[in-house]
Amino acid sequence: MNPILSPKRTVAELKELRALTGDANGAQRVAFTPMWVKTRAWLREKLAGLPLEMHTDAAGNFWATLRGESEKSLLIGGHMDSVPNGGWLDGCLNVMAGVEILRRINAQYNGKPPVTIRLVDWADEEGARFGKSLFGSSACSGNLNLDEARGLKDKNGITLPDALKNVGIDFERVKDSHKELKNAAAYIELHIEQGPVLLDLDLPLGAVLGTFGVERHAITFHGQAAHSGSTPMNRRKDAFLAAAKMSSEIYAIAERSGSGVCTIGSCITKPGIVTSVVEECRITLDQRHLDAGKLASMLAEAKSASEKFAKAGNVLVSWERLWQIAPRPFNTELIALCDESIRETCGQVHRLPSGPLHDAAEVAAAGVPTVMMFVQSLHGISHNKIEDTKEEHLELCVTAFDKLAEKTIRWIEK
Ligand SMILES: [Zn+2]
Repeated sequence: MNPILSPKRTVAELKELRALTGDANGAQRVAFTPMWVKTRAWLREKLAGLPLEMHTDAAGNFWATLRGESEKSLLIGGHMDSVPNGGWLDGCLNVMAGVEILRRINAQYNGKPPVTIRLVDWADEEGARFGKSLFGSSACSGNLNLDEARGLKDKNGITLPDALKNVGIDFERVKDSHKELKNAAAYIELHIEQGPVLLDLDLPLGAVLGTFGVERHAITFHGQAAHSGSTPMNRRKDAFLAAAKMSSEIYAIAERSGSGVCTIGSCITKPGIVTSVVEECRITLDQRHLDAGKLASMLAEAKSASEKFAKAGNVLVSWERLWQIAPRPFNTELIALCDESIRETCGQVHRLPSGPLHDAAEVAAAGVPTVMMFVQSLHGISHNKIEDTKEEHLELCVTAFDKLAEKTIRWIEK
């Protein structure tokens, strides 16, 4: 083990942060609130002893830079903000592991590493207050839709531009943050898995292949309302029957896709009374896959199934796209380095896609070679105060992530 790196210190600092910014219901570091500002001040204190340049960019992202021999930069990212009543690790584990790695690199290279190392704490990853995730990183990548974001309001009616003004950020200039990526040669991010895959495999760490692409649609079946007593079964145009058949079909579609997932998350029937055949049934379908081609065929299969069931039931079907995002596969060479770092640390590794989106997806979309490392989550749960990871696994992930940082420095030098 590297004598200068202290994973135990990271665990101790995460506990200190929990005591400072959490309460009986969990973490309370919602972006752009006084608690978030206090969290940032605490982070600056932790970094104060190092020879870093620190500043907040136009989108409110915090950057700490250790200048190296080369301007080419290794970016290490995370987010200090949490959802209300959040967990103690989501986002801040990534940043605090980065702090420890900065300490190690600074000590090992006497303040002048071969490449520049930059720690970034993205602003409002969670989107808890305004319903828009990845705010700071999407401003930085250039993907943020300003017209859409300008009108967002929190539950008290405060607009996003006004909330930003309160913490010294000019909404109209947030995309200036893009210049921070000028010399970015690689981006690495550590995160808790937030799902049960590594737990079920009994493995502490995983190399992340990328973030899923998403296709989200509303599917409406149109039949005919008719009296539930007087209408014989063979004379019905039952919109619900056709929709209900989709329920088991999406499991078959997901299965055929290999590693995709499909969810029917809502179902609304009209007229929605006990004495009528359903005239109209609207369901929502959320489909996710890491492979763009497979995602497209999952969607095509769902469409043709809906048409088949509509025809069989003598009803009509219409589709409406609600949202979509392309898959963001990570850099294959960096995935291999991540894999290697994990093997060297704990012997075994699993490669997995990420269902949730992360800031890393935005950085990858901006064209910076990117990879993420996952550490096992107990209960497979996050965004909840019961979110947890074994301390021994937390220490392992800091060690493995530090190895990845060092290997990535070598990779950038080449
Ligand atoms: Zn997170």
